[in-house]
Amino acid sequence: MNRLFLSPPHMSGKEQQYIAEVFESNYIAPLGAFVNRFEESVKEYTGTSNALALSSATAGLHLALRVLGIEKGDIVLTSTFTFIGSVNAILYQGATPVFIDSDESWNLSPELLKKAIKELKVKPKALILTHLYGQMAKIDEIVAICKEEGIYLIEDAAESLGASYKGQQSGTFGDFGVYSFNGNKILTTSGGGMLVSNNKEWIEKAMFFSTQAKEKFLHYEHKEYGYNYRMSNVLAAIGVAQMEVLAERVKRKREVFEFYKEQLSGIEEISFMPEIKGSYGNRWLTTLIFEKTDPLKVVESLEEVNAESRPLWKPMHMQELFEDSQTFVDGTSEEMFDRGLCLPSPTKCKNDELMRVVEVIKNICS
Ligand SMILES: *Cc1c(COP(=O)(O)O)cnc(C)c1O
Repeated sequence: MNRLFLSPPHMSGKEQQYIAEVFESNYIAPLGAFVNRFEESVKEYTGTSNALALSSATAGLHLALRVLGIEKGDIVLTSTFTFIGSVNAILYQGATPVFIDSDESWNLSPELLKKAIKELKVKPKALILTHLYGQMAKIDEIVAICKEEGIYLIEDAAESLGASYKGQQSGTFGDFGVYSFNGNKILTTSGGGMLVSNNKEWIEKAMFFSTQAKEKFLHYEHKEYGYNYRMSNVLAAIGVAQMEVLAERVKRKREVFEFYKEQLSGIEEISFMPEIKGSYGNRWLTTLIFEKTDPLKVVESLEEVNAESRPLWKPMHMQELFEDSQTFVDGTSEEMFDRGLCLPSPTKCKNDELMRVVEVIKNICS
């Protein structure tokens, strides 16, 4: 039995052709035509006006905070129910993360966000909002709160490329948005990220910081410090080929979700991550909650049929790293972490193959 992974890479078939073009042009060196093409394709798909291809989404979040002037002593609000990649950049800037819990949407609670802003003694400068597992957060409410309070909004759309709310793509609502092309995301360049914003000057500044902050001189002149965060032309060639199949991948991810949902619909104790009204998630991973069954027992049994599964993200406020942090939590994400699971959600597989997973869950829950 071949292994069913959570979200393995799925090539379009054009990648090697484009990489061959890179080699023919000899632009193996960082920048080149494919970096621009990759940025253009993300701009076109998402409807943003500026995009910057980077070595990772984490680098994108870091650049966003740096450009916005977030520094030591500043508070950055963030979803607690997320991957550490959302939060590390706050630490890189020496700023202080404050964690906010989820609500029934599984994503950040607008109510707890308001509570945090009201109760914090220092005004937060920014919010990093994750669209968890590719499903949209309550973005219009959250945008409205951030606008009213004068808080920058950075969307961590690392998992949600291709997801939309009322026809507008995730990552394009905030001051900045970040997409990831890491190996396990819906699309991959083996590793990579994209920073987007409708503010041209900010993206230009981010570009400057991402290439060692070189001033415009023939010799190497520096007034500020920067990073080496740009994406290579070779990886961008993979990205161009991957963007061509994004709509197909989203469609297939959603089919995988619908298949599981239908097959497991008879089991009362199971509930799936919802999709908020007006939104179209990319269903990067199919995720579910067991009311009674121990999810770790399910993991063990799935392992026996060579299928990968994992608990949901362990909330950041439960991590030892953040044990002294300020939080606005009500137990929602803790409960989800205890009871939830991510199922294999590969796009390159037939529904028949997923029956293995379905059978295991049906057996355990009956
Ligand atoms: C994967 C991921 C990141 C980090 O992306 P990289 O490209 O690996 O740096 C950040 N946030 C979330 C929510 C992610 O899932």
